Amino acid sequence: MMSAGELESILLRRHWVFDLDGTLTLPVHDFSVIRHALGVPKGTDILGYLASLSQEEAQPLHDRLHEIESGLLERIEPAPGLIRLMESLQRRGYRLGILTRNTREIALRTLDCLGIGAYFSEACILGRSDAPPKPDPEGLFRLSLQWETEPHELVMIGDYIFDLQTGRNAGAATIHVDRSGTYSWPELTDIGVETLDELHSILPD
Ligand SMILES: [Mg+2]
Repeated sequence: MMSAGELESILLRRHWVFDLDGTLTLPVHDFSVIRHALGVPKGTDILGYLASLSQEEAQPLHDRLHEIESGLLERIEPAPGLIRLMESLQRRGYRLGILTRNTREIALRTLDCLGIGAYFSEACILGRSDAPPKPDPEGLFRLSLQWETEPHELVMIGDYIFDLQTGRNAGAATIHVDRSGTYSWPELTDIGVETLDELHSILPD
């Protein structure tokens, strides 16, 4: 159990990196359906599977994945408390980034749909071609270089195990946004919140 002081020291860090889908948005990706559509074996990491194929085999699947992910844009809805949290972090002068296994192009369009594009500088939005996919910590290393800070000064916020592993692998703090409130990966989680609203509510004054 984290002490109030430890909790506060994490929340006062000034460099926050967010996962996109299911963290800033309500979850719409059904990965088992996507696996099925692409012929990816059950329980297998989709990007890892595509990376294991030859270029010729992988390309049509990448195209299909892009199509599926573009289609999902129409169903994008902001996670509760999103705008309030973004405003609050901006007011504090925090630097904000995105690290997503989606493409950068879809990430930019998603942020636009959500109306929060202005909170992120474009160089701080990393898609799956900009850095090795999570849980590889490289994306966080790149952001920390850009921000001229150290990875252990970062906070990684996400809804899935890959996000938390990425944070741990980089030596960053982790915040798990888990609507179910079950927090399945306590060993990877520094702070657990059910919603962005709750995260906003625990920010120190
Ligand atoms: Mg996610």
